[in-house]
Amino acid sequence: APNGHAAAATPESAPQGDVFSLAGRVAIITGGGTGIGLEIARCMVAAGATVIITGRRESVLQESAAALGEGAHFVVNDITDLAGLDGLVEQVEAAHGPLDILVNNAGINMKKPALEVTDEDFSRIIHTNLNAVFALTRAAAQRMLARRSGVILMISSMAAYYGIDRVVAYAASKSAVEGMVKVLASEFSSQGVRVNAIAPGFIETEMSRTAMNSDPDRRDRAMRRTPMGKFGKPADIGHAAVFLASEGARYITGVSLPVDGGNSIGF
Ligand code: NDP
Repeated sequence: APNGHAAAATPESAPQGDVFSLAGRVAIITGGGTGIGLEIARCMVAAGATVIITGRRESVLQESAAALGEGAHFVVNDITDLAGLDGLVEQVEAAHGPLDILVNNAGINMKKPALEVTDEDFSRIIHTNLNAVFALTRAAAQRMLARRSGVILMISSMAAYYGIDRVVAYAASKSAVEGMVKVLASEFSSQGVRVNAIAPGFIETEMSRTAMNSDPDRRDRAMRRTPMGKFGKPADIGHAAVFLASEGARYITGVSLPVDGGNSIGF
């Protein structure tokens, strides 16, 4: 370089080459067999990562991993079995090497007026969307922190930002995840592990189609609240996930990134 600065470059300086590449990285994507998780997996494989998708249904995972091609693998795992989550990370690392990226994408929803939500309903959603997310994150973070390197992503929701009727447990779980992101980012970021959330807006998947079909007006209302005038595709979340997982986002931690066609401008 003319001024000689490049020669003084340290490992702390800007990474060389494609900063958005995930070549050589190992990623777990929970719920990666369907919907948003599957597209996150597709985008991460395209960016060069080795991806392990998880879920409860072997046939779904098998088909999805095959469609994703080389670089994609699956492990049948129910995240609500908290005692098995450390073993999941261990199994993945034994087969593929150190875990670089964890995407907490698996989640469940249920639409009921608050007064009809039973304790059982509430606990089931909190257990899957919150307790399991924490337990798996802790298992992964323990190993990442020891290596001083890693990225953790949470798939949150607009339900964490706004009062959306009939999703009281889901909103509580996603708001709690957003709180967790800030605390974990604060605790981990000085040790090389970044933690961020992506908050999808209205994304066309099985989950959102079911929700839209259960309420004919919902589609129109959702569209009116989306300045871009269209719903998102699962791949839109995938691209954001690749970015946040990459070196291109190396100074980003503790944030919740809305990927929502403008919903979060305000309802
Ligand atoms: P899907 O229902 O298609 O995907 C959910 C995935 O989670 C499935 O692959 C499912 O696999 C897996 N899963 C559910 N429970 C468990 C469990 N106990 N253990 C392991 N895996 C489990 O929905 P989406 O793709 O839409 O949702 C993905 C994420 O995005 C969720 O966290 C959701 O809250 C969030 N989101 C979605 C939005 C949308 O508009 N679609 C908007 C905002 C947020 P299996 O059943 O085989 O276990």
